[in-house]
Amino acid sequence: MAILVCGGAGYVGSHAVHELIQQNEDVVIVDNLQTGHKQAIHPQAKFYQGDIRDAVILDKIFMENKIDAIIHFAANSLVGESMVEPLKYFNNNVYGMQVLLESMVKHKIDKIVFSSTAAVYGEPKRVPIMEDDETKPTNPYGETKLTMEKMMKWVNKANGINYVSLRYFNVAGALDDGSIGEDHAPETHLIPLILQVPLKKREHITIFGEDYPTEDGTCLRDYIHVIDLADAHIRAMNYLRSGKESNIFNLGNGKGFSVKEMIAAAEKATGESIKVEVGARRAGDPAQLIASSEKAQTILGWKPCYTNIEQIIKTAWTFHKKHPNGYDE
Ligand code: UDP
Repeated sequence: MAILVCGGAGYVGSHAVHELIQQNEDVVIVDNLQTGHKQAIHPQAKFYQGDIRDAVILDKIFMENKIDAIIHFAANSLVGESMVEPLKYFNNNVYGMQVLLESMVKHKIDKIVFSSTAAVYGEPKRVPIMEDDETKPTNPYGETKLTMEKMMKWVNKANGINYVSLRYFNVAGALDDGSIGEDHAPETHLIPLILQVPLKKREHITIFGEDYPTEDGTCLRDYIHVIDLADAHIRAMNYLRSGKESNIFNLGNGKGFSVKEMIAAAEKATGESIKVEVGARRAGDPAQLIASSEKAQTILGWKPCYTNIEQIIKTAWTFHKKHPNGYDE
């Protein structure tokens, strides 16, 4: 039996595929390569280039392979873009989930692990955030992910598809050897943008606001290493395989780092000094987003291995030095 990884050529998906194959799982990938990269596809995975909104390609995959469970990463994920193009997000994310779930019902696949986000919570009322805290997304991206979770909840009741939704905070880092990593175009995430300075691809990093109610005035985020995240997906899949009920888990390190602390850690990780400018706040940025992952630790037995922020940044640095212009050089 194989695992179908939707979006297995993307950042988190490609690392999850790597870990699955390390654990001797058979992996089938479907990815439309809109934001994923051919070079990130594991050579031992069976690859279908296609879109999960296309029921015909899903039929073909389910008929040609014995699929035991699905891990679903195939979604658009940029907060800013979702504010400008909300319908792109509703179409790709929500409609994509609809076609995937319809196909799962049709082909009697009853397990799905879903890549969700801290953006479902919106502006948190308290930190660390717990899974049963209020969900009130402040952007279409978070809204579509929350809607996708709700779709799975009702399909679980009606059709017996079991799901685990993993709400992750700030994903960071790369495989230790730097063979796969984070490559977005355009890049909007803090760590790869900071690293562009020592790579001489940008002159400075702009801090988006230093007037937040935090110790140094910059935003606090909970950074989790992509391999720890991949491990959580595999644990979630095995949790469903053991017949346990559908569930939702936060994934984070439980500790917040400010933008300034991240820049200082990147200077240590790269051994280079990084020029900084302070700019205006970015719309929609909460002052702090920190996860309580106690539930995942207790129920899934998950424990992040990468807890040192410098070490996390170092893995990203290894990837970016190997691929200074991303995968498509
Ligand atoms: N950030 C920043 N400068 C940048 C990019 C990001 O100061 O060029 C800040 C951003 O405001 C946020 C944190 O870094 O507080 C993490 O941002 P990122 O986009 O990486 O992730 P998010 O928390 O938005 O998911």
